[in-house]
Amino acid sequence: MNLFTETNLSPDILKAIGELGYESPTEIQKQTIPFILSDIRDLIALAQTGTGKTAAFSLPILDMIDDTSRKIQFLVLCPTRELCLQITKDIKNYSKYMQNIKTTAVYGGSSIMDQIRSLKEKPQIIVGTPGRVIDLINRKALDFSAIHWLVLDEADEMLSMGFKDELETIMKETPETKQTFLFSATMSKEVERISKNYLTKPHRISVGSINEVKKNIKHEYYVAGYRQKKEALKRLIDSNPNQYSIIFCRTRMETQEVADFLMQNGYAADALHGDLSQAQRDTVMKKFRLKNIDILVATDVAARGLDVDSLTHVVHYSLPDDPEVFVHRSGRTGRAGKDGISISLIKPEESRKLKQIKSVTKIEITESRIPTGEDIVKAQVAGVFENLLEVHQDFFEFDDSLIPDLSEFTKEELVHKLLQFQLKDLALYYKDKHDILEQKMSSRDDDRGGRDRDRGRDRDRGRDRDRDRGPRGDRDGRSDRGERRGDRGGKPRQRDENMTRFFFNLGKKDQLKKLDVLEIINKATSSKGSKRAEIGNIEILEKFSFFEIEKSYKNELLGNIQSMKFKGKDMRAEEAN
Ligand code: AMP
Repeated sequence: MNLFTETNLSPDILKAIGELGYESPTEIQKQTIPFILSDIRDLIALAQTGTGKTAAFSLPILDMIDDTSRKIQFLVLCPTRELCLQITKDIKNYSKYMQNIKTTAVYGGSSIMDQIRSLKEKPQIIVGTPGRVIDLINRKALDFSAIHWLVLDEADEMLSMGFKDELETIMKETPETKQTFLFSATMSKEVERISKNYLTKPHRISVGSINEVKKNIKHEYYVAGYRQKKEALKRLIDSNPNQYSIIFCRTRMETQEVADFLMQNGYAADALHGDLSQAQRDTVMKKFRLKNIDILVATDVAARGLDVDSLTHVVHYSLPDDPEVFVHRSGRTGRAGKDGISISLIKPEESRKLKQIKSVTKIEITESRIPTGEDIVKAQVAGVFENLLEVHQDFFEFDDSLIPDLSEFTKEELVHKLLQFQLKDLALYYKDKHDILEQKMSSRDDDRGGRDRDRGRDRDRGRDRDRDRGPRGDRDGRSDRGERRGDRGGKPRQRDENMTRFFFNLGKKDQLKKLDVLEIINKATSSKGSKRAEIGNIEILEKFSFFEIEKSYKNELLGNIQSMKFKGKDMRAEEAN
């Protein structure tokens, strides 16, 4: 099966996915679509995010769902609010031409009354996070008596986030006759246990096998905290001047954010992910192939259609869950007889993940130090000479009389001047910048520790564990309430002494985006001549936001922002503790 048209899916579905630019099924789709369409067994599918698993389970179910019934037939459970919204959006896209099909998302951190209201419209499909689904069951707002298909998406994540009891309760609420599909990136003991107890003789599939590890790729890793990651990435790019690279991110949102950051900082970069239309993706890929841009920020699946041989670097901006994906990503460099470099940016609490990748793939990944401003300037100078010495032909007629009298300078002085001229902006940027402090990997298994702590805290609060988690797989998400109190959970963040953190009265509900905050800060601090305030972390939460700017701009910002408006709304900022 190489094309979707060979899958027997209904014309309505084929039309919808055709518009999304899906032509050939991904590996997991090739395996699950025919299975779900024709088999009545339960299923365990080992596949990580980015493999196309949402379409893998939802397309065949949409094909079979009864659109004349107004009962819930299909339930998807997933760990986070973001994933819940993403899956809902995907299913709505896939069922765009199925007039009578309605899908509702139910997740924590958002008004339960609104969700109850939308359940009254009798959707056939529910996508939910376990905590909120339980709340709604308790309020008798969900009738699961007609469920045919239950999907547990990212089952390992749900279990490690402490949703075991909720999952068991929900599974007991659904009819025994249903078909259960469990998707998980890893087959942990808990996943095994839950499948043993709740799945009947499941069919098992797993996507792909470990790719061959290439020997001509050098693997480096750099430790950078959540707040330093983008700056660390910038430094790594600047210290590798003539690179042609793909930066891999986990989610579409992260992909766009990183690409925006690079573009705002003047790099020839762009984003490639599933939220773009096929035409947009084609344009980005073309620009990259033609080297009009030399940095592509992409999700795993979106990058799949791109075949380029001359990548100098692959950057794992976020580590994948699956070691196989790590090998696959890295193998995109070091092609056609050339050497390649694979760079991983690792948060201090990701030691367990790194260890797992190292042990499964047997790749040697060595720790390196994030370049200092001095390292970067040196690398840039070497880059200029590398380019200079590669020029072996004259590209245009050049009349020597155009050169002014330079006899007062020695050759070295002239080279010096040209370099100063060429690298002025970069050198100025790094001149007053603090180097990124070396960070140690935490010796503890913090990835899990963080979750356990979160779990404990949520238990104390006794509700809605799923609320306000960060993007898929990003455990740095925080709750609005926690944020205001400065209760971040997990490790306390390192504060930069030169920055002031502000509370800002607008948030996602006001359609505030990071770009808007950048613009607002720039506007409110524009009176100090051309020097712009340095901007630190920006966090946009549901009802309000936080941002950090250079301390010396504090009063100016506070003075100006009061008289500014965003989409007609008054702005208010105050120093946060
Ligand atoms: P998922 O693993 O479900 O998060 O999917 C990752 C991304 O791949 C999403 O952006 C999907 O829209 C996209 N995608 C899924 N299936 C296909 C396909 N067959 N062809 C192209 N893109 C796909």
